Amino acid sequence: MALDYNLLDVRVDLKAVRANYRLLQHRGRNCMAVVKADAYGHGLLEVARGLSLDGARMFAVGAVSEGVHLREAGLPGRILTLLGPQDMREAKAVAGQNLLPLIYRMDQLQMLAEATAGRPQQIALKLDTGMRRLGFSPEELPTLLDQLQKTKNLEPVLAMSHLATADEPDQAAFVQEQAACFQQCRTQFERRGLHLEYSLVNSAGLLGYPDLHFDIQRPGISLYGINPFLNTAWEAKGAGLQPTMTASAPVLQVHALRKGESISYGRTFTAEEDLTVAIVAMGYADGISRSLSNRSFVCLHGQRARILGRVCMQLTAVDVTALPHTVAGDTAWILGGSGAGAITANDLAQWWGTIPYEVFCLLGLNRRG
Ligand SMILES: *Cc1c(COP(=O)(O)O)cnc(C)c1O
Repeated sequence: MALDYNLLDVRVDLKAVRANYRLLQHRGRNCMAVVKADAYGHGLLEVARGLSLDGARMFAVGAVSEGVHLREAGLPGRILTLLGPQDMREAKAVAGQNLLPLIYRMDQLQMLAEATAGRPQQIALKLDTGMRRLGFSPEELPTLLDQLQKTKNLEPVLAMSHLATADEPDQAAFVQEQAACFQQCRTQFERRGLHLEYSLVNSAGLLGYPDLHFDIQRPGISLYGINPFLNTAWEAKGAGLQPTMTASAPVLQVHALRKGESISYGRTFTAEEDLTVAIVAMGYADGISRSLSNRSFVCLHGQRARILGRVCMQLTAVDVTALPHTVAGDTAWILGGSGAGAITANDLAQWWGTIPYEVFCLLGLNRRG
């Protein structure tokens, strides 16, 4: 096992994830918890097990290996794999571990038919209604349906598609376009006598479009406390979710930075007055982007302390002039913290120039087991 070199302490509040699930389940009624990518960095097994305690019986993972991991840990219920199967080995794992594979290419059908050797296998169908990423287009459905007639042991049970603009109220028209396309696909299936379950919405769709819930909803980011409508006209629709992840590191040293002195590599910050700085044990080796240099904050003693100069590999300097009681050993929060200075995933994402999804995934890579 690799040495654990990170002093950054990334923590997950499982109770908060569970509370978010209960809120979403109340709104959607039949949620499939999206736990792909290690549950957005929150820990696949911990999150899935936690949600099971609240009655979750459907999970969506990314790779087949994630599904296998859940099954080997004894997780019951329906486990949808969004990315696989890619090859024969994965197709056999899908069959052997009773996973529900999301099929988006014709050749996956033959592969799965071969791997299952005539034994019944349920499958989910991915439809492309406008995202233009993965899936069968409406025009391809007749061919798909013909192919399904030939692979009789493969039983489609779920058809799903994914919305491109559900979290942007001013792009609601495109959501409706995708929904109309989805309905059209559904009509095609029904005309051929197929009775499937249907699933269209992600977090934003679940919270913003109650009329598009279909049979199953697929919340991801909202489980992890993010309101997809923050700072939009629909903000109230995503109210009540709780933050789930924090990241903190100890202060290693506190010292004066005198007027005219610079700090860190490249001398990108020079003090215009006498300051006090704290050196915090976090850096880009912990997943804290170097792009946060001179433009982000940590929360210390409930207040904001700005980052001074470049973020280094394992060290970052912050301004604690207004926090004179700061000493080595104090805790600095890059995500979370208390009081008015607490930092949300949205704050951090904004300084980082990205979205909370990416912040969670990157910080999650450094989560201790
Ligand atoms: C990731 C993902 C989701 C969850 O989306 P959020 O915006 O995180 O709620 C739902 N469906 C599919 C197919 C996904 O890939």
